[in-house]
Amino acid sequence: MLTGEQYKRSLADGRATYFEGNRIDDLPRHPILGQSVNLVAGGYDHWYSPGDAARNPLMSIPRSAEELRARIPMQHGADILALVTYQSIMTLSTAKARIEPALPQFARRIRDYVEKAQQDDIRIVECITDAKGDRSKTPAEQDDPDAYTHVVDRSDKGLVIRGAKLHITGASLAHELMVIPTKAMHRGEESYAIACMVPVNAPGVKIINTTYAPRHEDTRSFPFSSRVHMPEGFVIFDDVFVPNERVMLDGQTEMAALFAHALGLWERLGGLSDMAEQADQLVGFAQLIAEANGLASVSHVREKISEMIIHATLVRAALEAAISNCEITADAVAFPNELFTNAGKYHAAANYNLMVRHLHDVSGGSILTAPNVSDLENEATGALLRKYMSTGKGVEGEYRLRLFHAIRDLTADAFGGWRQVTNVQAGGGLYAQRIVTRRYYDLNGAKRKALEAAGLAGKSGN
Ligand SMILES: Cc1cc2nc3c(=O)[nH]c(=O)nc-3n(C[C@H](O)[C@H](O)[C@H](O)COP(=O)(O)OP(=O)(O)OC[C@H]3O[C@@H](n4cnc5c(N)ncnc54)[C@H](O)[C@@H]3O)c2cc1C
Repeated sequence: MLTGEQYKRSLADGRATYFEGNRIDDLPRHPILGQSVNLVAGGYDHWYSPGDAARNPLMSIPRSAEELRARIPMQHGADILALVTYQSIMTLSTAKARIEPALPQFARRIRDYVEKAQQDDIRIVECITDAKGDRSKTPAEQDDPDAYTHVVDRSDKGLVIRGAKLHITGASLAHELMVIPTKAMHRGEESYAIACMVPVNAPGVKIINTTYAPRHEDTRSFPFSSRVHMPEGFVIFDDVFVPNERVMLDGQTEMAALFAHALGLWERLGGLSDMAEQADQLVGFAQLIAEANGLASVSHVREKISEMIIHATLVRAALEAAISNCEITADAVAFPNELFTNAGKYHAAANYNLMVRHLHDVSGGSILTAPNVSDLENEATGALLRKYMSTGKGVEGEYRLRLFHAIRDLTADAFGGWRQVTNVQAGGGLYAQRIVTRRYYDLNGAKRKALEAAGLAGKSGN
């Protein structure tokens, strides 16, 4: 396994990564992305065990509902890059099980790759979302054939890919890019049915970063985002050579969607478990600020918080149902139940904004206007700020001020905006979850029940 220091050194590999118009020479020393590097390095140190046989427990494959459940607290403690690495390993393992009967040679490559990745303790990111061009057209119909990542050349040693994958969380800080098709491909789109593993420093890979990291000199008023930010990568494959042994799918259009479905499942389980935690946090902040404001027993405030509690409980219940109804593959990989994972992720994301609205409603305008921590330290303003932010004996001004900072940071500033859009879009957007939920729901069973209730059992409209 790698220590944090070894991880930091591993990033000096010539990767072409950019931020606000400039190429980054030294990622660990970069004033903003360097903070994210430290976060990941901290994760490495946290999990580190010496010895050749040591493995990161988060990256091992769950074999039962109990093991899946045990991942949840581990995931909450992990940095996002460790989390997407786990999801990538699980995507590959789920896809392997599904392609094995038809494509045993690719399944073997996936197995070997996963074992080596676990052994080398590397970080992998999920590259699925293409630039996509005109959304109403298929890859083959696009004006620009590169709108979806595809094979543009090949030799007996490997192939060359061109395209771009957008919004790739943590790309610049990882070691490997898991490139998979973003959706189903059809006959004539063989060159788009490509899945492969590409090192971040491969010639031709260029990554443009964006971040929601707070850019203030004093970040103490951003208690959450100043600790956990991770850049998003706009990843360009400008004619990148991929050796044969790193190719996991090559032209089998009928299997192209299978990788996206596998990723969607693990992404959405991650999203669902994140949102279960977020829902509890929102309840906690609503109750704390209501108490600090002296409003905890007012009926409309209690009703809103009760609604938030019900939401948090149902999201947690969906997560539990997804885990306890997991399926086990022939080679003993436990993967969460599709119906509960997708319905739960959809419900949690679709109602997230309403829960944030309740929190904002019960909190008050200081969410946005509470002065900074440094104003507490100024002789002229500190004592007055404490006096007027206090709501009486037992509620110190600084305590209430810091609650407002946390609520702003989590729900009403750059990170809050990022979280709002991420909850909806990550894992393929609400539309994708609706489709998968419908596919796995027993619609015929529901029709049967309706017919029985109507006294029409065994009848049909024909
Ligand atoms: C912060 C963040 C992090 C992310 N991290 C990753 C990551 O690590 N890896 C990764 O691969 N992706 C990642 N994503 C991408 C995410 O999965 C996509 O944003 C999402 O799938 C939507 O794709 P899009 O952004 O291209 O929007 P669009 O495809 O333009 O979608 C916009 C809307 O149009 C709908 N739509 C699009 N096409 C059609 C169609 N043909 N028919 C009907 N409706 C359609 C969509 O459902 C959606 O409602 C991330 C996104 C965000 C915001």
